[in-house]
Amino acid sequence: MQEAPGSGPGGPELPASLEFSDDLTEFLRQPSLDQLLQLARDVVLDPTYPTVRAWTRPGRRAVGCFPVYTPQELVHALGLLPVSLHGGGENVEISHADAALGSFLCSISKSTLELALTARLAPFRAFIFPYICDVSRNLEGLFSRLMPGVETHMLHLPQNFRSEATLPFLVAEYRRLIAKLEKAGGEPYRPERLEASIELFNRQRRQVGELTATKRDHPGKLTLTESYLLRRLGGLLPREVHVPLMDRVRSEVEQRPARTKDVLRTLLVGPFCEQPTLDLIDLIEQAGCSIVDDELLQVHRWYGSVETGGDPLVNLARAYVQSPVDIGVRAAPTSKGEAILNRVSAAGAQGVIFLTAKFCEPALEDVVLYRKALDRQKIPYLHLEFDERSTTFEQSRLQLETFVESVLFD
Ligand code: SF4
Repeated sequence: MQEAPGSGPGGPELPASLEFSDDLTEFLRQPSLDQLLQLARDVVLDPTYPTVRAWTRPGRRAVGCFPVYTPQELVHALGLLPVSLHGGGENVEISHADAALGSFLCSISKSTLELALTARLAPFRAFIFPYICDVSRNLEGLFSRLMPGVETHMLHLPQNFRSEATLPFLVAEYRRLIAKLEKAGGEPYRPERLEASIELFNRQRRQVGELTATKRDHPGKLTLTESYLLRRLGGLLPREVHVPLMDRVRSEVEQRPARTKDVLRTLLVGPFCEQPTLDLIDLIEQAGCSIVDDELLQVHRWYGSVETGGDPLVNLARAYVQSPVDIGVRAAPTSKGEAILNRVSAAGAQGVIFLTAKFCEPALEDVVLYRKALDRQKIPYLHLEFDERSTTFEQSRLQLETFVESVLFD
């Protein structure tokens, strides 16, 4: 990979960061769930991708996948490590990216570019940007100009799910992606390898589904932050490490006593792309909400599972086309209003929090439609905006506490 701008002599100095062995067994060796969660927190807060640096040290290659949806099974099947990118969070100061991107854009676009311009994305050999909005499309263009030594790919995803052409279109798009990944050092595509990757990712999706179901059915066993950290590791670690890790986590969570207190069962909608800080995620539950379903890190839950048997590339595309999940960047046949009411009812939620990234048009547009449906059913909601780099939340705390009290004690 060509060195990213700013990484050479005279480039910005990178902060000290975590180091791991190249098999990442440190995660499996943590003596307790609490220690594992602390390690996960350290990893999430380290913008230099320490797990990716370690895993790629023996010559393996990693591919950065911008939110919201990339067929990561396909990346894995070519012998590459798919890594979910989630911006720089609160620990990245924007000093170079502002020159390339306008002021009124979401923070994740700027911090992702900043990571590239300061060599923090040096362990990656390729980047995939799904065409979820104009911002992600422009980011792909910027990456391809600023990092000429790496492959970049804009993944076009269908929005019309009723046409007979939809499935063949997506399969053709996946073939374009395969060609790009092979150029980036991936092994030649073999259907049997993709079938094996689909099985592994199905297992991971099942585990993540069980974790979120535990949070929904026994909210006192697991905080939202804990659930989030475990899911976030799922997009950073090789699945061969994360899947056995989650087996262990499940049995430890089952043995945990459930804390009980008066809480508002709440659906969290909006943060499907840019992610709030851990402090803000903590704050939502500290204020008295219990999040029983959420849109954080959707990538693992786009569909229940991908079919096996037959052509795996077609199965993978079909899973996307037929997914029942309806979030901002994917127009599904169901109406948005119906979708939110179904989700409130399935989660047994008493209210909804819209937590949308500043300047995120896909999320903001949906809030308008969702609110109309909630108003009709008199379901209470609160809308907060966030920026991944915000560190003070006094205003949000006040709004959250008022919201919870108004619903619980009315
Ligand atoms: S946060 Fe919203 S506007 Fe920004 S890249 Fe993601 S979907 Fe697009």
